[in-house]
Amino acid sequence: MPGGVKTDVKTYQMYINGEWVASQSNKTFPVYDPSTEEVIAQVPDANAEDVNRAVASAKAAFEDGPWATTTAQERGRVLFRLADKIRQNTAMLAELEARNTGKPIVEAEYDIGDVATCFEYYGGLATKILGYVNPVPDNAMSLTLKEPIGVAGQIIPWNYPLLMGAWKLAPALAAGCTCVLKPAEQTPITALEMANWLADVGLPPGVVNIITGFGESCGAPLVQHPDVNKVAFTGSAAVGKIIVKMAADTVKRVTLELGGKSPNIFFADADFEAAIDGALFGVFINQGEVCSAGSRVLVQKPIYKKFVDAMVEKAKKIKLGAPLDRDTKMGPLVSKDQYDRVRSYQEVGKKEAKLASGGGRAEKFAKGYYVEPTIFYDVDNSARIAREEIFGPVATVIPFDDEKDAVKIANDSPYGLAAAVWTRDIFKAFRTVKAIRAGIVWINHMQPTYVEAPWGGYKQSGFGRELGPWGIEEYLETKQVHINLNEQPIGWY
Ligand code: NAP
Ligand code: MG
Repeated sequence: MPGGVKTDVKTYQMYINGEWVASQSNKTFPVYDPSTEEVIAQVPDANAEDVNRAVASAKAAFEDGPWATTTAQERGRVLFRLADKIRQNTAMLAELEARNTGKPIVEAEYDIGDVATCFEYYGGLATKILGYVNPVPDNAMSLTLKEPIGVAGQIIPWNYPLLMGAWKLAPALAAGCTCVLKPAEQTPITALEMANWLADVGLPPGVVNIITGFGESCGAPLVQHPDVNKVAFTGSAAVGKIIVKMAADTVKRVTLELGGKSPNIFFADADFEAAIDGALFGVFINQGEVCSAGSRVLVQKPIYKKFVDAMVEKAKKIKLGAPLDRDTKMGPLVSKDQYDRVRSYQEVGKKEAKLASGGGRAEKFAKGYYVEPTIFYDVDNSARIAREEIFGPVATVIPFDDEKDAVKIANDSPYGLAAAVWTRDIFKAFRTVKAIRAGIVWINHMQPTYVEAPWGGYKQSGFGRELGPWGIEEYLETKQVHINLNEQPIGWY
């Protein structure tokens, strides 16, 4: 275990049925600051018994508690009040998020703003869940009602901890569901801090439960629990495949937001300066720990050499530093495991392609999981560093000939989360957008994400969509109601 255990670290409890509780085993596990490698908190190590308790409370809240009859207007108000609390506490939450993930404080502040915006958006949407009148041919009226799915089990990753929590909780609550949320083992503390306000903003006990634990011992029993009606998962494709198999036994609704190996495509006619910025921002923001990272940088041959040189020159100026330093543009990776993983891909890359810059640990830091922003070029799309998700600041630059070639390389991936295309030619841009098999495509930008617009992948990047009206649909069942308007018997027999 890296780092020394300090005695002044906060020991958290978890939030079940509106109460703060330890795990039934009384075990806890440590949470780290990846820039110092020190323990900053202890959290309960929840197991299947704790999952049972949380799911039972969510089920009771869904079936018998006041939430079952809370109006859509009131659900909306609850979410607005929660958004207010988050805005009022942005500084505290952003600091915790930066310390715990390693991300720069300025980025963490944006994230917390987005968390509040997400609760506001779904607060407004709560009263806009509409049914239909179906045009059936008989003397009857056929209605479509939208109803909450029930208990949602929600499992999230560590790269945007509270934001991934908001993407799951906000639409579920707007729909009228109840929730059991399991944050990633590395980053559970901002969700627990948020739980301090849940009762105050008007959520009855059991509507939101937050349990902390590991994937196998806490996440898996949540997915398998017969009283969980829907599982919403964001994480790696490897775990996503396990989730689908586990959910099959109880025929749960499942949505998966998985990884990617997203192409960021630069045609020779793109604005050169904007393109270089866009290539670096696309892959290095949040230390590259982004599901939609533009980790495959596809560059058209006439500008290829100049492009790689310009990327390298600018990448060297990226300021690595302590997460809480306001000038920092790149912090440490989230954990020792993630550091080892990225370091090993840096070594794989050195055998598969040419190294243009970086390629190792950022040695100026005595402690912390810092790696250099790394750029490989002359990468073949069949190389491991072009096919496997690294989830760190490693760019693989791949040359291409023409539009057809770019699309072929872009689509030659098991993933299909995101892509971007840079050109001044609107016709070429749209042809490329239509040809690309991905859930999100940007033109002349990469990464902006809005709660109003859908998020999710094609192919092995998952299924289902979060955000916007699409996000709430995933927490709703559809009920057909038939009203007979004939007063006479059917007259069949
Ligand atoms: P991960 O290892 O797949 O873990 C994600 C979550 O699943 C964690 O809470 C984890 O718990 C839990 N888990 C692990 N094994 C489980 C099991 N057998 N049953 C149930 N739950 C289990 O992913 P990560 O390393 O945290 O995050 C990085 C991945 O997330 C990347 O692949 C990235 O692309 C993806 N991601 C996707 C999106 C998107 O919107 N598409 C957004 C962000 C991240 P532990 O914490 O204990 O491991
Ligand atoms: Mg994990």
